[in-house]
Amino acid sequence: MTTQMRSIVQNMPKAELHIHIEGSLEPELIFALAQRNGVKLAYQSVEELRAAYAFTNLQSFLDIYYAGASVLLKEQDFYDMTMAYLQRAKADHVRHAEIFFDPQTHTARGVPMADVINGIHRAATEGPISAKLILCFLRHLSEEDALATLEAALPFREQFIGVGLDSSEVGHPPEKFARVFARARDLGLHLVAHAGEEGPPAYIETAVDLLKVERVDHGVRCLEDPALTRRLAALRMPLTVCPLSNTKLRVFDQMKDHNLLDLLDAGLVAMVNSDDPAYFGGYMNDNFVAVFDALPLGLAHAHQLARNSFEASFLPAQEKQKYLDEVDTYFSAFNVV
Ligand SMILES: [Zn+2]
Repeated sequence: MTTQMRSIVQNMPKAELHIHIEGSLEPELIFALAQRNGVKLAYQSVEELRAAYAFTNLQSFLDIYYAGASVLLKEQDFYDMTMAYLQRAKADHVRHAEIFFDPQTHTARGVPMADVINGIHRAATEGPISAKLILCFLRHLSEEDALATLEAALPFREQFIGVGLDSSEVGHPPEKFARVFARARDLGLHLVAHAGEEGPPAYIETAVDLLKVERVDHGVRCLEDPALTRRLAALRMPLTVCPLSNTKLRVFDQMKDHNLLDLLDAGLVAMVNSDDPAYFGGYMNDNFVAVFDALPLGLAHAHQLARNSFEASFLPAQEKQKYLDEVDTYFSAFNVV
């Protein structure tokens, strides 16, 4: 990638639609919160904790992810975590973020739902960029647990815009959560779900047909099914792709094997996101630089990815257009790269 191209992707306006806020916890903040809350960690130092991030698959990542989340106990902890992410995202020229949070990871440890949602929401309101929240259900738990979690969150209905589905995908297909997604739909919430990351293309199909999601998180395995790929393109179903996450978890062995360019060539509304940036090796611009370095992506692709990120957002139409205009104005300054 040329120096100019690098600067173009770093400075372009963008939205982030696939970020788990608990996955933005840096080892330094984990240690600071552990000290503040008197939590004893299984790691002696920041360095030892960072070394433990050398996981090799989704499950070994999730094990350390939940250990890191154990330091989050008070409303202020959730605020500090979210504010740290928003400031980091602003530095990468992220204009708008739709942030996933996993209440079950916290309520199961006795943290009140109010502290989780109020802390994250207060930071989203006061932070340096536009931000909205999406409540995610942990798919390795039961649908009953998800239903109870949604009911417990209803007093805070105005503080989140949608629901999602995350955690261990294989063996926990979308259809396991059909009732809770139907309930969320009745409540007027936006719907998204992780599908087709480690799980098969069939999970993407059931997420769309049975859960009626408006975006598919990851979805990269759709290309294994040409008919599904054509259908997702015709629906303009967004795919929130996370390049560094995909290589870290070996969905693709190396970045040069990533299918982002193929997804765009297939007419899919794909865009770049960071997933769990503290754990997977980087934030938004790290993802852009890594994937543009490895694949033959150019100026038109950068423009498309930036446009897709705002098109796929849940912003009101007028705000969406404002950001799309900003993207087009930004790119009109460049002719040849
Ligand atoms: Zn994710």
